[in-house]
Amino acid sequence: MTTHRDEAPPITDPDDDLGGDPVCWLDRVCPDCGLFLTDHTASTCPRCGSARDR
Ligand SMILES: [Zn+2]
Repeated sequence: MTTHRDEAPPITDPDDDLGGDPVCWLDRVCPDCGLFLTDHTASTCPRCGSARDR
């Protein structure tokens, strides 16, 4: 009677890509002072007054 069992665990390959897109919020951060611009319609940074290109 042999009790040898080859019970290989199923190889799970999680393909979850939880990276998100950091570029989408980089557009809201002032390149000069790093302030997060909640008002994306503002053409200038409320803190340093730096003009935003887009
Ligand atoms: Zn700024």
